[in-house]
Amino acid sequence: MSSVPEALAEAARREPDLASYYELHAKLFELQDKARGELAARLELADQPALQVRLLQGRSQLSFAQLPLEAGRFAKLSLAIAMALKEYYAPDRVVEQTLPANIAGWFSLAQRRFEDGCASPEKRDGRMELTLAEMTVDQALKPYLAWAAEQVLPHLDQRQWLRTYCPACGGLPDFAFLAKEAGDRYLVCSRCNSQWLYRRLGCPSAILKMTPRSFIIPVKTKSIASMCAMHAIAISRRWTCDRPRRVCWQWSNASPPSPWT
Ligand SMILES: [Zn+2]
Repeated sequence: MSSVPEALAEAARREPDLASYYELHAKLFELQDKARGELAARLELADQPALQVRLLQGRSQLSFAQLPLEAGRFAKLSLAIAMALKEYYAPDRVVEQTLPANIAGWFSLAQRRFEDGCASPEKRDGRMELTLAEMTVDQALKPYLAWAAEQVLPHLDQRQWLRTYCPACGGLPDFAFLAKEAGDRYLVCSRCNSQWLYRRLGCPSAILKMTPRSFIIPVKTKSIASMCAMHAIAISRRWTCDRPRRVCWQWSNASPPSPWT
């Protein structure tokens, strides 16, 4: 199986009209991977009964305070990500004045974005378009969330969750996939990349009343299943080996979402 950078480079060769998009994500991956590699601490976990209580109450496990966020390092990562996003979305615009002015500003925005993503789905900020600073911080939080989620997820019995949001960080799913053996459906977190078990039937997007916020997947094909106008991409690994194939998806726009305003 190829690495993420290799897969993105191959995708760029295969779809030259989207090459700059894949290059952006290769850059984001490089920055996030480096940040994650620098996290040496171990996550302070609650004891098993406390984890279980949160699980049964439908509360995600991670708190902002548990993330090993060093403010200066996080601001530096955020600035690098902001410049990569600007280069792709608005190379001719001056955007620096729209970004947090100092390290504390980046840190407090990170906390706000983290907590919004952990709120119950109906209380979340449902805006379709985020500011550059918000998009940046969401990307900069990913390595920290992935690092923490990887440590907490093995302690959870996923059969007791089956919810439409991530049991680790509370994030919404980017897409679903069907497992190769039994065909169980898993959702993949848009924030921490966790994979969690979900019911085989029913559209998680429709249940959540999700709005299209992800800018990660440049789906060019119109909906082929129109039971709802939301977005649920499912990838099946049951009939394929190394190359998953999309078995159904719903997407209302042919082009990637527009940049921030
Ligand atoms: Zn998550």
